[in-house]
Amino acid sequence: MTTGTLGGMPGIAPPRHQAAHNAIRLRRGRKVIADRMLFVWGIGFGITLAMALSEIGRASLALPGGQLTAIGRVSGLAGAYLMLVMLLLVSRFAPLERAIGQDRLVRWHRRLAPWPLSLIVLHVVAITLGYAAAAKTGALRELWLLVAGVPNMLAAAAAFALLCLTAVTSWRVARRHLEYETWWALHLYFYLALALSFAHQVTTGAAFVGHPLARLWWTALWICTVGTVVLYRMAVPLWRSLYHRLRVVSVYEEGPGVVSVVVQGKHLDRLPIEGGQFLQWRFLRRGLWWQAHPYSISAMPRPPHLRITVKALGDHSAQLARIRPGTFVAIEGPYGTFTKHARSSDRVALVGAGVGVTPLRALVEDLPDGVHVVALLRASNHHEAVFAEEMRTLLEHRRGRFQALVGPRGAVRLDTETLGRFVPDLTTRDIFVCGPHGFTRQVVRAARALGVEPDRIHTEAFVT
Ligand SMILES: Cc1cc2nc3c(=O)[nH]c(=O)nc-3n(C[C@H](O)[C@H](O)[C@H](O)COP(=O)(O)OP(=O)(O)OC[C@H]3O[C@@H](n4cnc5c(N)ncnc54)[C@H](O)[C@@H]3O)c2cc1C
Repeated sequence: MTTGTLGGMPGIAPPRHQAAHNAIRLRRGRKVIADRMLFVWGIGFGITLAMALSEIGRASLALPGGQLTAIGRVSGLAGAYLMLVMLLLVSRFAPLERAIGQDRLVRWHRRLAPWPLSLIVLHVVAITLGYAAAAKTGALRELWLLVAGVPNMLAAAAAFALLCLTAVTSWRVARRHLEYETWWALHLYFYLALALSFAHQVTTGAAFVGHPLARLWWTALWICTVGTVVLYRMAVPLWRSLYHRLRVVSVYEEGPGVVSVVVQGKHLDRLPIEGGQFLQWRFLRRGLWWQAHPYSISAMPRPPHLRITVKALGDHSAQLARIRPGTFVAIEGPYGTFTKHARSSDRVALVGAGVGVTPLRALVEDLPDGVHVVALLRASNHHEAVFAEEMRTLLEHRRGRFQALVGPRGAVRLDTETLGRFVPDLTTRDIFVCGPHGFTRQVVRAARALGVEPDRIHTEAFVT
């Protein structure tokens, strides 16, 4: 791959405004998919609640502990259902990824998490107290009798413990003190917890015992969810990696602590990736093969080559500078909605800082010719202005404007005044921002202050 050249096929410029119409249509289509998905999940939740409630009779509520037991049964099923939804949100199910985007899906997964967890805790407490009241015994003794005496309850107790462990380690304060890889490995226990809990649900759940139809519905729900996870998180990436057979061909420095890694593969013209998107990269080398990290492509594929550009921030990113040519690479994806389809106009402003320029660099190549582009790049010094020359060349070629803002953070700020000065027609544009968290926040605030509509501001975050 030669850097600094304009490779890629020249696009056929669509008539003015047509691109915007197409983008709006596409966005609407994606929103419909998201709405339908939420609708289906809502119906599923309704059926699950109905199943749980149908087992509760007035007579049973009047018995000692009856109300607590009923609360425990309903909360248990509701919690288990929401756990499956959580799993689907991070299953990488392609239509959802395309419609909503991975960052938002992960955010929803996190926001939803406290609900099923609270419901499961309520289930354990309420069932134990309810049964204890019915048996006129102590709560701890009842808990012991349940765990030791009822089939599959020992596995369920282990599942509950693992769930609590996952919850605690995912709690923001705890997570800040954990390495990403440690958190990720602990998070895998969530899957184990779900697997361990299934048997006790169908063999002891009042809604399922003697109700083959309900059991069939519940089992089908689990099979579909687990099948989706296995298909999209394992089978598709495996197939894609074998199909493209990527290998590292070169690694070179772009700036201080920033390297580009060029890989070569087969059928890259069939890799459905767009500028601004990222892949999960797994370098199949000792010490690295077990972790996949997200990196955006820093140029559109030029078969047989594909390029990423990485800043050394921690152990994985730093090791990429030493990766040997010939190393095989497995990929998962492409993911991300930070693409040309996000825009709703034929004028865009790209604003990046540091290594945040990588998705913008690929995006500028992927924008149709009819789109007018202005790009601003912020860096502390000229060495850190990675891709400044490539961006300048690309923008000159498409008659856009490029401006590098170089200088210490305190002296050269991308605030309302600077943004307004360099892009006076900002309100007529879609703005794409990628950079460190504080930088992105500042640019978004400035753009809002200048009157840019929120749905015209598109950001990509490099932290999860
Ligand atoms: C959508 C997306 C696109 C990205 N594109 C680029 C890019 O083009 N170039 C670039 O230099 N960096 C990119 N990053 C950031 C890059 O993924 C992290 O810098 C890298 O994973 C850090 O790993 P580490 O082991 O070197 O550092 P660590 O010290 O282990 O991690 C530093 C931080 O990076 C994040 N992180 C670590 N591992 C992962 C992981 N497996 N998945 C998600 N987040 C993780 C965590 O927030 C962590 O706190 C991107 C991140 C995301 C989410």
